[in-house]
Amino acid sequence: MLSYFNKWEEKIGAFIEIHREALSAPPLSTGGLAGLPFAVKDNIAVKGFSLTCGSKLLQNFRSPYTATAVRNLEAAGAYVIGKTNLDEFGMGSSTDNSALKRTNNPWDSARVAGGSSGGSAAAVAAGLVPFALGSDTGGSVRQPAAFCGIIGLKPTYGAVSRYGLVAYASSLETIGVLADGVDRCRQVFTTIRGPDPADQTSYALPPPSEPSRIIGVLSAESIARSLSNEGGVLEEAGNAVLLEEDVRHGFDRAKAILSDLGYKLIELSIPSLKYGVPAYYTIATAEASANLARFDSIRYGQRPLKAENPDTLLDAARTGGFGDEVRLRILLGTFVLRSGFQDRYYLRAQRIRAQIRQDFEQALTQCDAILMPVFPTRAFSRGENTLSPFVQKAADLYTCCANLAGLPALSFPASVEGGLPVGVQLLASAGAEETVFAIAEDYEKIQPLPHPCGWKSLWHKGS
Ligand code: GLN
Repeated sequence: MLSYFNKWEEKIGAFIEIHREALSAPPLSTGGLAGLPFAVKDNIAVKGFSLTCGSKLLQNFRSPYTATAVRNLEAAGAYVIGKTNLDEFGMGSSTDNSALKRTNNPWDSARVAGGSSGGSAAAVAAGLVPFALGSDTGGSVRQPAAFCGIIGLKPTYGAVSRYGLVAYASSLETIGVLADGVDRCRQVFTTIRGPDPADQTSYALPPPSEPSRIIGVLSAESIARSLSNEGGVLEEAGNAVLLEEDVRHGFDRAKAILSDLGYKLIELSIPSLKYGVPAYYTIATAEASANLARFDSIRYGQRPLKAENPDTLLDAARTGGFGDEVRLRILLGTFVLRSGFQDRYYLRAQRIRAQIRQDFEQALTQCDAILMPVFPTRAFSRGENTLSPFVQKAADLYTCCANLAGLPALSFPASVEGGLPVGVQLLASAGAEETVFAIAEDYEKIQPLPHPCGWKSLWHKGS
């Protein structure tokens, strides 16, 4: 076990901190979650472990308490073996925005694992843990799950307590699950969901309604077309969301398998989606600029050795502590919130958000779930062929709408194309996680979870 773990970890660099002694004992589990090890993204608190958020600023910070979701898993008999790498404060789509280390994709070390929960996704895909926790503000669980060929759940907003999750954009994000199978994902979700007095936005969800076995399909072409008609930056974004050939294959295969399984597929279109990314980045950066104000090196963060006065102290700590992407987003956030301009940006984004939510709710009256791509490309490589920061942001379109609408979304591997997994996602009504689990479980029987070369089965199957 330990040598398998060390060999993979050296190759992929999924962890920021590992408690290796926890690994020497063989897993005792015979079913359920009891006795299973798991990994936790390093922006979720586990007492005594690091809580770096992938940032230099918190490099030496240790958590004094444990997040509710982790406590629930521990109460069910599972135990934490380590903290995983992420884009700094969850800002990014590759995990390369981590200030602390690189994480590689287990399918191909020259490619990214996706992000921002890339460490958690890589650890599960390599078989180092049967499941891991991540956070999803605009796709950070589903996109790395798709890049690594595993299951990724972004629960309904409020289904899982956010107590112990370091806030990036509070109104959008939720703790999510990365797992090596649909049933395992369901077990973890069932264990962590539920109201928590420590998080006022958490609540008990109503059960889903009787399924009709109709799935709505939101095609990339229709979205790209509506963006391309706009001209300017939106037109550029239209090209960025067009699916690469291999991803289109995977998406078509998902449609064919679901239809063979007896689901009725109907075409959908959601016109408000074309403003999804601008609305997401306006809201996310506004909230980030407020949430990250607490990192002043006085309450949290590394303090510079000397400073003339509190202003220069703050300035030095934040300039040295935050990476470029985080600084960019704080600046954007303060820009969209500056006095006199809120109506132009922030309030407008909120109106778009309300429209998107309404359009999705309306679409979900016609079907049980909506099938969508997760990301226009498979795991991308570093260097010359990498995606520019603009394209990476535009490509968040497919994932960020579930966050804007507060709906549950499950990403699962549709197929393997050219040696790399392709993921698709299913969105459902608030509280209807079971609906998407059931469909993905049907799918899993036809297309079992794929594994990278060198993967070994160490854990019993969830169920
Ligand atoms: N890629 C998105 C972003 O950079 C999503 C991040 C997330 O879900 N934490 O904001």
